[in-house]
Amino acid sequence: MNGHFAAVGGNGPMAKQYEHGIQVIDEEKAFNANLSDYLAETHIAEAGFNYHLISVFGSQSTGKSTLLNHLFGTEFSVMSETERRQTTKGIWMSKNKKESADGGTAKMADNILVMDVEGTDGRERGEDQDFERKSALFALATSEVLIVNIWEHQVGLYQGANMGLLKTVFEVNLQLFLKDKQSQTRSLLFFVIRDHIGNTPLANLRNTLIQDLTRIWSSISKPQGLENSKIEDYFDFAFAALPHKILQPEKFLAEVDKLGSRFTAGHRSTKDQEFVGGVFLPEYHRRIPADGLSVYTEGVWDQIVNNKDLDLPTQQELLAQFRCDEISREVMVAFDAAIVPLEEQQAEATRLGNPSVIADLGQAGAGAREKCLKTFETQASRYHKGVYTVKRGELESKIDTRLKALYQGQLSAAHKAGVAAFSEAVTGAVKAGQKAGGSYEFAEIVEKQKKKTLEIFKKEAQSLLIQGVAWTNFKPQYRLFEKELDDVSARLRKEEMRRLAIRVERWVKSRLGDAIGLEFNKLGSGRGGSGAPETGEKPATDKDLWDRVWNAFIGIVREAETRFVDRAKSFDASDDEVEVGLWRLRRKSWVALRERIEEEVMESNILMKLRENFEDKFRYDEEGVPRIWRPTDDIEGVYTKARESTLGLIPVLSRFRLSETYAPPDLPEFIGPQPAGVEPEDEEDLPPIGGVDEEEGKSLEEEMTVLSESKRQDLVVRFKKMADGVYVEAKRSAIGGITQ
Ligand code: GDP
Ligand code: MG
Repeated sequence: MNGHFAAVGGNGPMAKQYEHGIQVIDEEKAFNANLSDYLAETHIAEAGFNYHLISVFGSQSTGKSTLLNHLFGTEFSVMSETERRQTTKGIWMSKNKKESADGGTAKMADNILVMDVEGTDGRERGEDQDFERKSALFALATSEVLIVNIWEHQVGLYQGANMGLLKTVFEVNLQLFLKDKQSQTRSLLFFVIRDHIGNTPLANLRNTLIQDLTRIWSSISKPQGLENSKIEDYFDFAFAALPHKILQPEKFLAEVDKLGSRFTAGHRSTKDQEFVGGVFLPEYHRRIPADGLSVYTEGVWDQIVNNKDLDLPTQQELLAQFRCDEISREVMVAFDAAIVPLEEQQAEATRLGNPSVIADLGQAGAGAREKCLKTFETQASRYHKGVYTVKRGELESKIDTRLKALYQGQLSAAHKAGVAAFSEAVTGAVKAGQKAGGSYEFAEIVEKQKKKTLEIFKKEAQSLLIQGVAWTNFKPQYRLFEKELDDVSARLRKEEMRRLAIRVERWVKSRLGDAIGLEFNKLGSGRGGSGAPETGEKPATDKDLWDRVWNAFIGIVREAETRFVDRAKSFDASDDEVEVGLWRLRRKSWVALRERIEEEVMESNILMKLRENFEDKFRYDEEGVPRIWRPTDDIEGVYTKARESTLGLIPVLSRFRLSETYAPPDLPEFIGPQPAGVEPEDEEDLPPIGGVDEEEGKSLEEEMTVLSESKRQDLVVRFKKMADGVYVEAKRSAIGGITQ
């Protein structure tokens, strides 16, 4: 055992187990699952496209491993000079451990990965031509530069083992190319001629080799469509010769060191297409991102070892899918770390029924989104463009679904909080205004609070905006919020209308109290007694009691209407709302009038009024002088007159009638038809009015009946009894006057 895998503590940055590199493919053709680990350890994985992969080919024991170790400072096993048994098995890989070459004057390219491929010469694995083909395919699929190691004395030996190997290389290349026609990828065949004695100049050796290669090329059977292809269509060639290692050890080392300086970046001159600089031309690079290299090479090897058609574009797509998913998962971990706590906070608040606005959510969301997508872009965009684009879309929609839910929750919390704050602020300001004596402008309060609340919501919505992301435009939510504020305003305005209505109704009631009392007090006046004082006005007669009542009523209501309209307009009530308010006011005023009349005709009140009326006429003469009854007086005549006159008031009082038409006032016309804007709650506190609300089954006649028939009769009986008492007393006083 070489002890490669004995993981005894590292004495450098790289683990001990990798000091000889890593055996990518072992003797059993198994792929080493630790390759990704190795690439990570050597910091290749993070290099993106800034790495190079080269392979060495050649017959067994031609000093390949020795060459690589000198060129790149690798520690591939070499055949011991005394034992002469094969050492390199399968395919090994190691990172270049040198930084510079040519005596330290030339800096080598970054991150050169070297693959030491087990050589075949038919001597030790003769029967295993299969491995030779497979390893050639693997190297070609992955490597930019193929070093072909060859003894000088083998050059020109067309039948030599090397030529068989090259034939294989060419064939598998065509096989690959057939599947990957779009690819511009070429490879460099770098011939390193060993034990160069110097008699034959390198230029001659080179010509001989090119002739041989052309011959091999023409001898291989080419697939359909590629019959006329030339070797130069796929390969570039480079040549180097090295002195004999054993015979000229110093020269050997010096030349190898010089050779190392060629492993740097190069390009083709635009003038004559000649190489300028080192061997690594951009067109050789397989464009497999370093962090996908292990997955890709594993996939390629898997196809090869199972004798499947190696289709590199498909492999690249599969790799892209695999890696994009992997990168996506990785970036989602960071996204989750930032977003999950916020999601939980929101869910918890919602669960408690207290949705709250999360501070700086927009910043956190946009930051996590940007970081997530940027990281994905940086890493994944190196992979197959089509796959990358699809996967980026998937990632974006995954992120956006999460953010969308979060943002919508945020705005709905802001909406709820805003509506509550608005309603509270308006109500509070109104209450304060009322306390301060009622001088407040409702419309102004609403306007001010609405502006303030909208501003807060707008700020929140704008803080969630992400440039160029359409769904983060929350204008519709803003409009919805504004509409809800308007709805709340309307509701509050309605309440304000109610308060106004109550105030105006109270005012109507108080005015009616005085005015109607005054009219009833005039009953029976104008006919002597303690009648009304002389004024310029037409004296009130009992006959037009109801005209006066009606006119007083109309006057008060009209004034109330004007007050109501003025005030309602000041807080932007709509015409409909005003119309409904006035309709309600008229109805309520009528009901108040009815109640006031009811009060006037309450039995005790009315009886007292009749008595006063009767006594005025009975006890006082035309001049208003109290009568002193004498036995000769026509007491009976005066009594009868006074009694009949007072009894005449009862029918007048019984019905609300206007004198001119001897009909009730047109109450339906006064109240007016029910406006279209009336809602059920507007009607809740409205008692039915006969003749106006016809379906209530009460006629206008009934509505206008002040005293019912039975009440009238009862009143007549009681009044008469009372009058009789007064008469008897008068009679007695007359007789008594004589006897005294
Ligand atoms: P590999 O099988 O091609 O990897 O060959 P190794 O690197 O294991 O070397 C095989 C043998 O060739 C070893 O004994 C080396 O010492 C010897 N060797 C290495 N380089 C040279 C060289 O440049 N010239 C000669 N003649 N022998 C060499
Ligand atoms: Mg070897």
